[in-house]
Amino acid sequence: QTYKRPPIELDHGDGVYLYDLEGRKYLDMTAGIAVNALGYGDKDVLAMAEKQSHKLIHTSNLYYTAPMIELAKKLVEHSFADKVFFCNSGTEANEGALKFARKWARKNFGEGKTDLVAFSHSFHGRTVGALALTAKEKYRAPFEPLLPGVRFAEFNDLASAEAAIGDKTCAVFVEPIQGEGGIHIASDAFMHKLRELCDRHNVVLIYDEIQCGLSRTGKLWGHEWSGVTPDIMTLAKPLGGGLPIGAIRLTDRIAAAIESGDHGSTFAANAAICAVAEVVFDKLSTDNFRQHVAHTGDYLSEKLEALKSEFPALISEVRGRGLMWGIDVTVDSGKIVSKGYDHGLILVNAGENTIRLVPPLVLEESNVDEFADKFGAILAELNTEVR
Ligand code: PLP
Repeated sequence: QTYKRPPIELDHGDGVYLYDLEGRKYLDMTAGIAVNALGYGDKDVLAMAEKQSHKLIHTSNLYYTAPMIELAKKLVEHSFADKVFFCNSGTEANEGALKFARKWARKNFGEGKTDLVAFSHSFHGRTVGALALTAKEKYRAPFEPLLPGVRFAEFNDLASAEAAIGDKTCAVFVEPIQGEGGIHIASDAFMHKLRELCDRHNVVLIYDEIQCGLSRTGKLWGHEWSGVTPDIMTLAKPLGGGLPIGAIRLTDRIAAAIESGDHGSTFAANAAICAVAEVVFDKLSTDNFRQHVAHTGDYLSEKLEALKSEFPALISEVRGRGLMWGIDVTVDSGKIVSKGYDHGLILVNAGENTIRLVPPLVLEESNVDEFADKFGAILAELNTEVR
């Protein structure tokens, strides 16, 4: 009962569509929560999954394999980072980042520099460390006490960040564009201020790009919008084409503190998943692909503004970049998600009052038209119900 699942059973997918057991077709505006960037049935992903599975699926992280090395090289070449540690999920990537930051701080500054800073509306995962960095009270309260030493500052509030970050701070976690917390975009000034504060107090700046990274916003990395780079960055969701993988990317300066035995994971750097992730990364990182996302995202933005003008009593705000959008609604967002199934739309919310759009990145303009028609029909229905 941890999930309130709808009364449908999904059977298969094709492109940007999902089909249930009864053959009903749904336009997918959720992509398995920002995972299926290439949609369903990408031929190259399937071919690689099969090819590498025949060759070698798993060796444990104790050994080198070509897929692990090639993927790591690509992730390093396309970023600020010098090294990568692979893991199996977003939460795990943040847990690992936290450990690496703590180790670096201890090695360089001794005991006592262990505090962590995160922000309002943040979401970093559900294990005890990552949950301690997640702002939402509802997720945290039943499991407290969590990891001690975490301070929350207001997202996009420079003074609040300045008050929270000090010499005892070891790491700052921030999503350049917050996902689950309701699609909030960090301002350039905020990103610059965090870098400055982290440099001033010798703090590891960690970007969680698990949801906003890998071309979701029309740029390869969400932080490219501000141009400010971190010391560590976590990735997961779309990287494995639907297979579980996370990655922690870090600079040599931080990695130098890590010694053999400091961290580990049995399934991590799984050869089959790394081989698939390489295919996914090659596709998502081309200029053409990013331009496609930016272009389709602009079109979606126009459609969302039009819907907001048409239904001012139901939509209070729309925000986003590329194909990552939040629609603030004045009704229970869960009700809209439920109505989506009747209208052939797969939607997900981000809290009680925001619908989150994180569709497959291969979405086309014609799909955006279809979404706008269907979403408009749901809002029209709600309008008559409210009256
Ligand atoms: N960080 C962010 C920004 C996320 O959006 C998520 C998942 O929604 C996580 C961390 C946790 O990732 P996972 O569910 O793969 O553990």
